[in-house]
Amino acid sequence: MAYVVTCPCGVTIRDNNVDQFVKAVQKHGKEVHNQSASKEEVLAMARQE
Ligand SMILES: [Zn+2]
Repeated sequence: MAYVVTCPCGVTIRDNNVDQFVKAVQKHGKEVHNQSASKEEVLAMARQE
């Protein structure tokens, strides 16, 4: 089971570890979109595969 999110910009972020996943999504959001999201917001966007 992995956490997966596909960003509107087309980037897919996937990780089996929830903490690493949240960090990766937050890093992408900050670096690429200059947006920050809480862990709860990240997980609300994510799906599990
Ligand atoms: Zn993006």
